[in-house]
Amino acid sequence: MDEKQQIIAAGKRLIHEGYTTHTWGNISLRGADGRIYLTPSSMDYDLITKEDVAVLDLEGNLLEGARKPSIEKDLHLEIYRRRPEAGAIVHTHPMESLAFACMGEEIPLITDAAVMTLRDTVRTAPYGLPGSKELAANCADTLGNEAMAVLLANHGAVCLGADLEAAFKTAKVLELTAELCRKIRSMGAEPEPLPEKVQKALLSM
Ligand SMILES: [Zn+2]
Repeated sequence: MDEKQQIIAAGKRLIHEGYTTHTWGNISLRGADGRIYLTPSSMDYDLITKEDVAVLDLEGNLLEGARKPSIEKDLHLEIYRRRPEAGAIVHTHPMESLAFACMGEEIPLITDAAVMTLRDTVRTAPYGLPGSKELAANCADTLGNEAMAVLLANHGAVCLGADLEAAFKTAKVLELTAELCRKIRSMGAEPEPLPEKVQKALLSM
């Protein structure tokens, strides 16, 4: 599949696997040519064609695409500029993670799978209006240089990967970790992260 076909397939996955509803959320990848491929704004994921996929340079200039790019293009571009290893980004609105985003809380790395996939505590970026430069900056600042996911206050989650498959894995592990934290709390305990030493050992495997 070429880059545009990968974006189309990922859009169907985003909606049909329950990562968001309606036309919400958005997806991007960094192509082999260094250009950024991004879903169009407010479009049914089942109807997106190759002509609708936006192609941008890192400065945000629209190079290809018949439609307006996703409103969150600045958020995607800011992450690609700061994290050269990021090859794909999915922005989701999943319920368990969203609960933490609404409380403004962190999701601790409580399992080895969480450490190896999320790589750093998942923190909540301060609220910014959708599509704003403020939200893009808050998101990239809070994400930092290590974490593969960040929560957006009262809104959703942003998940990174080397490619789209890895970004979806990040989104899945984030959601499962949030759910596990809620279950632990419902049993009367507080979810504790794995010790720093163990985290370091896991990350060097
Ligand atoms: Zn959103």
